[in-house]
Amino acid sequence: MSRLTRRSFGALIGATSASLATPGLLRAQNAGRLVIIGGGFGGASAARFARINYPEVEVTLVEPWPSFITCPYGNLILGGKRTLPQITHSYDGLRARGVDVVQDRAADIDYTAKTVTLESGSVLDYDKLIVSPGIGLRWDAIEGYDESAAQIFPHAWMGGDGSQISTLRQQLEDMPQGGVVGISIPGNPFRCPPGPYERISMIAHYLKEANPTAKIMAFDAKEGFSKQGLFEDAWGELYGDMIEWIPASGDGQIVRVDVENKLFISEFGEEHRVDVGNVIPPQYAASIVRDTGLADESGWVPVDARTFAAASVSDVHVIGDANIAAPLPKSGYVANSTSKVAVAAALAEVTGRDAPADPVYFNTCYSHGGDDYGFSVVGVYRTTDEGFVETPDSGGISPRGPLSELADNRRLEAGYADAWYESITRDMFS
Ligand SMILES: Cc1cc2nc3c(=O)[nH]c(=O)nc-3n(C[C@H](O)[C@H](O)[C@H](O)COP(=O)(O)OP(=O)(O)OC[C@H]3O[C@@H](n4cnc5c(N)ncnc54)[C@H](O)[C@@H]3O)c2cc1C
Repeated sequence: MSRLTRRSFGALIGATSASLATPGLLRAQNAGRLVIIGGGFGGASAARFARINYPEVEVTLVEPWPSFITCPYGNLILGGKRTLPQITHSYDGLRARGVDVVQDRAADIDYTAKTVTLESGSVLDYDKLIVSPGIGLRWDAIEGYDESAAQIFPHAWMGGDGSQISTLRQQLEDMPQGGVVGISIPGNPFRCPPGPYERISMIAHYLKEANPTAKIMAFDAKEGFSKQGLFEDAWGELYGDMIEWIPASGDGQIVRVDVENKLFISEFGEEHRVDVGNVIPPQYAASIVRDTGLADESGWVPVDARTFAAASVSDVHVIGDANIAAPLPKSGYVANSTSKVAVAAALAEVTGRDAPADPVYFNTCYSHGGDDYGFSVVGVYRTTDEGFVETPDSGGISPRGPLSELADNRRLEAGYADAWYESITRDMFS
């Protein structure tokens, strides 16, 4: 392992070029160090917010991928409404703001020495650490479903290098006429509660033109789902009987897959033959927080509701999907908005500024049911000594009713969804 830390390397450079340094850089050398693990919705948002609002703090962002492919709007690739480059975002904007973006993977964290060891062997010192590494997939949860099986039955539930979502799209294009798409959906909690149902809608949107006799069988480990009435209205209005949603009690829980014979096998032992299989497995927090003792036995990380400080160690804040913040959903919106509270709370001590006293959190989840067909659910949350709570009589959900009466509303909401995507990705990467 390299013993020359990025901190000591930075100090050497500083010593030789101090006379050339700008006031901003001098300030940064004198203040605290914020290290952020994960350059997705939580981490990129935190890095940008910290850089803009706390210029005296040095910000380092660790992310293994050279650019970020969003899961939001990934389903629209399946629907033929977006391409991969349209949902791929560069870290150059953050670099231009002065964030030190390190393309590497955090391999270990020493909470006593306050260091992060990277896969390359470099060591980063931190005063405050923000961790937003997203989810890990439980490869042990569905028999026969491991990383190699995911090449045949893609999950397409993490951005990564984009190959999972591209493979699934290609499989839909290659499917024979009248074929069956099987989707296996996990129980709670999981990333993006409405995501699987938007995916069903977008696959149906594509198949309606390209393969109108195809079927989609959605096997669900639950009895109900987010925005269910709105999704079912959209499916009935736009796709006839193409979609069959099967709850757990109706044989929906898939416990085994056989990729060679293209089979989904349910807990009742029924075998379902599919032409294309999309398995969204059960999830927990990404390995870096499970392997370093931050997660509890549930596989997720308990945090303080006002600061996102990890319950088990000091100077570490965990944001995004990896933490336990129910009833806040695991969404990009939540990861982005809570990242700002976490940064302010983390940096209050090193900068002497106030921490947020009584934060309010919001979430809006938009979904696309088809062309010009959007709807949403909004939640507002506060904190009490017991943790996160939904604010009574707040939030809301799009109206239900016949499309003939709601076409304008659905069209407007599809536009709002596009605007949301545009603004949140700017708030992360510009
Ligand atoms: C199909 C789909 C559709 C969705 N649609 C929406 C939507 O419309 N609206 C919405 O709000 N949310 C949506 N979501 C949810 C959203 O994607 C997540 O909630 C959000 O990405 C969580 O942010 P995060 O920072 O926790 O994780 P991520 O955004 O996944 O970022 C985690 C980052 O950490 C990196 N990382 C992991 N381990 C390490 C390590 N050891 N070292 C360094 N880096 C590491 C990863 O490479 C990744 O870039 C959707 C999700 C899916 C799957």
